[in-house]
This record gives sequence, C-alpha cells and structure tokens, in this order.
Amino acid sequence: MAGEFDFIESLRQRAQHHPGVIRGIGDDAALLEFEPGDHCVVSTDTLVAGVHFPLDTAPSDIGYKTAAVNLSDLAAMGARARFCTLALTLPSMDTGYAAALIDGLLELLDSHAVALVGGDTTRGPLSLTLTAIGSLPAGTALTRDGARAGDGVYVSGSLGDAAAGLMLRGAEHASAEGEHRLARKRLLQRLARPSPRLALGMALRGIAHSCIDVSDGLGADLGHICRASGLAAVLESASLPASRALTTWITNPQQQLALQLAGDDYELCFTVPPEREPALAQIASATHTPITRIGILAPGEGVHYLDVAGELMPAPAGGYEHFR
Ligand code: ADP
Ligand code: MG
Repeated sequence: MAGEFDFIESLRQRAQHHPGVIRGIGDDAALLEFEPGDHCVVSTDTLVAGVHFPLDTAPSDIGYKTAAVNLSDLAAMGARARFCTLALTLPSMDTGYAAALIDGLLELLDSHAVALVGGDTTRGPLSLTLTAIGSLPAGTALTRDGARAGDGVYVSGSLGDAAAGLMLRGAEHASAEGEHRLARKRLLQRLARPSPRLALGMALRGIAHSCIDVSDGLGADLGHICRASGLAAVLESASLPASRALTTWITNPQQQLALQLAGDDYELCFTVPPEREPALAQIASATHTPITRIGILAPGEGVHYLDVAGELMPAPAGGYEHFR
C-alpha cells in the first residue's frame, strides 16, 4: 500500500513526453500548445465498474478500454488525438491494481502518441473518467448534422464481435476447441480492447458528410445522424459486416443481426456523397481499415431495415441505453 502521492509520482514518471505538452502532470494544471488555425476537440467518457465492464475484468483491459472508447469519440470527429486527463476513483490505494490499470491505459495512449497530462485521484467505487483532447484544422470536423439525402452509409471493420464476446465470456464456453477456441479468443479481445479508428476518422475529413462512432448500437447511433440531419436511413441488413470469428459461433442470421446491432463496437459509421464514394477504396487501404457500404440516406426520418429480399422488415431489437 502506498499513498496517492506516490501513485501520482509514478504516473508522472511513466507519462511520456509529447510535442505540445508545455507542462504535464505535476502542476496545478496542464499547459498545452496547439497549431495556429487548429480547433481544439474535447470529449469525456466515464467507465463505471459493474456498468461498463464486469467486475472481474482484468485491470489492464479496463484501462485500455477507457482510453479506447474516449479516443473513438475523437476519431468520430475526424480529430487527431493529442492529450488526455484521467479522473480515477479507486476503492483503495492497491498499487498493483492501479499500476495495471495505468499499464493498459498507457499502452493504448502511447500507441496513438497521446499524452496523459493530468487528472485526479480519489477514493470510492471504481470508476475512470477520461477527458480526451484532440485537434483538427478549423472547419474540417465530421459532425452528425452534415448528412444529405443520397449519401451512402458506411461502417468500418465489423459489427457484433464485442456483443458476442460478452455472450461467450462464461466458463461453459472456455472448453471450446479448434476454430471455435480461436474465434472466442478473438471476440473476447474485441470486447476487452476495442480499436479506436483514428486514422480512418482523419482520412474522412473532406470526404464524409457526417460521422459517429458505434457505441450504443448501430440503430441508435445512426439514428443520431438521421435526427441531426433531418433524414431517414435505409439499411440492407444482410450487408452489415460480420467477422469470421462471429460467424464461426453464430450461424442463425437473426441472432447474428441482433448482435451486430448491440453496440460496443467502436467502429465508425459515416455517410459519403456519391461523387466521393470512389475515394473510399484508397482510404480503406491507406488506413488498413475495411469499409463496407450498408445503405443509403433518404428524405424522411428514422432507421429502416431491408431483408435479404429487399423488403422492409420490422426494426430488429438491439442497442444499449442507460436509464431505460
Ligand atoms: P491538486 O490538489 O492541484 O488537484 P493533485 O494532487 O490532485 O493536485 O494532482 C497533482 C498532479 O497530478 C496534477 O498535475 C494532476 O493533474 C496530476 N494527477 C492527479 N491524479 C492523476 C491521475 N489519476 N492521472 C493523471 N494525472 C493525475
Ligand atoms: Mg486534484
């Protein structure tokens, strides 16, 4: 057991130096520098034990996911992630546990060259609040309200892996063998350690009309774009991308679709006008990110789904809302 100040001192030593950090951890506030003409992009997210992650999650995975979901919001704006602060509430000053949280957090932050520049440490039920600070050239942000009728609707990566991972966490699936074993490992990894699509978000500046990250579920998140832009979305349910790991475990198409709409994927959903759609192949290869066209925007409201025959189908269940 060491005190809060030893912990903060170890954080100060471990937080790497990055350009733009004039003063990081150790003073009353951080002092940061931006390029002339850049807008500052700020986002905050909290992860609460038992709500956003199961209580028995490995602490390094908790730290990693906290950073990943926050940077995902910057990715959805098209921002470059630069700095962050961490408000950490711990039940006790268990230095081993706290160090493991920070291991995971810094692993993700360092891999995207993001500096940890400050925060706060308090005692209480475990929760982590990260404030992520990014930058982008003024006027280039990807917002929810810029979509137009006729835009193609796209999603990065694949959907449903995290939800399937949550379903397969239990010990009863741990004895799976061969392809199922590898697939389960991959799904659990996607649940514990999502990849924020920062390179893709930046590449979509000047290309996408609107963008959002898929956290609550595709229907809910794309619904925000529709509402903000005053449009409807029509999705071809069969075109939603599924990973090989997902289809290895889930062969029933209805169950697959429910998982794909369940959220926690941290993929980007964005809309692109027809004349810019040809640019996407190059962006996908330059950013090493699969991109799939899943539908189109039209006059109207709400998110609608077409079945394999191209007929409108009832909106499938899926998605997550606090206080519902
Ligand atoms: P103050 O009383 O001024 O709030 P603190 O003791 O809370 O000072 O923090 C001292 C320094 O350590 C500050 O730079 C603060 O930003 C940093 N800090 C405290 N907790 C954390 C944390 N969990 N993560 C990153 N930096 C932290
Ligand atoms: Mg403080």
